[in-house]
Amino acid sequence: MTVIYPSPIFGPVRSRRLGTSLGINLLPADGKCCSFDCIYCECGFNSDFVPHERMPQKDEVIRALQHQLRKMKEEGPTPDVLTFAGNGEPTLHPDFPDIIDATITLRDKYFPKAKVSVLTNATQIHRQEVFDALCRVDNNICKLDTISPDYINLIDRPNGSYDVEKTIARLKEFGQRCIIQTMFLGGEHMGKSADNTGEAFVQPWLKAVAEIQPREVMIYTIARETPAHGLKKAPREVLDAIGEQVRQLGIECQVAY
Ligand code: SF4
Repeated sequence: MTVIYPSPIFGPVRSRRLGTSLGINLLPADGKCCSFDCIYCECGFNSDFVPHERMPQKDEVIRALQHQLRKMKEEGPTPDVLTFAGNGEPTLHPDFPDIIDATITLRDKYFPKAKVSVLTNATQIHRQEVFDALCRVDNNICKLDTISPDYINLIDRPNGSYDVEKTIARLKEFGQRCIIQTMFLGGEHMGKSADNTGEAFVQPWLKAVAEIQPREVMIYTIARETPAHGLKKAPREVLDAIGEQVRQLGIECQVAY
């Protein structure tokens, strides 16, 4: 089922990986805006959800966030995390760095124990202001599904230029300041295998993870219906085995099935 989230604030929602999460959606409320077009995206294919509204303005986001945090302070629940996610890629918002700073200030005021998390596809980390803003959040969660350009073009489908080697080099600069998030899949798409759980994918990916030395790795598989219909969940035992290989590198790994 496709999910288009309200904007700029949604939830709180219970997240498999993050706990009680208040969502901050910097993308338009009536569609999707992303520099990838992943075939497993819960928001659907980009072309099916072209937005007509604009992105929410910085002041609008900050006002809505403050209103919601004040309400949660009075009525609960207490958020574990304020999560930038929603209808696409949050770092595409032109005021992303300023909004991060304002969010940290509001978090400190209302729920100092809550973490600020950003789910990003890492396509904008070559921009210094985005890179620096991501260094200021608690959980900078960067997508790296594979290091195979062919697989990236089949599954993540960047809609601009994307160089995985350059992305990995930049992720190395984050090092412990990032968490790597990877989707593992089975099944097929457009007559090609969508399975990235075999050794040919996992070993080069592990090598990249070892080079990046992130604080943590989160691996997961699809949990609900996807816009592309030939995909399958990666088996639990396969995910567990990959998680174990990450831990053998001395890197913490969370497996969500
Ligand atoms: S990067 Fe995230 S939001 Fe963008 S298409 Fe992929 S899954 Fe969807």
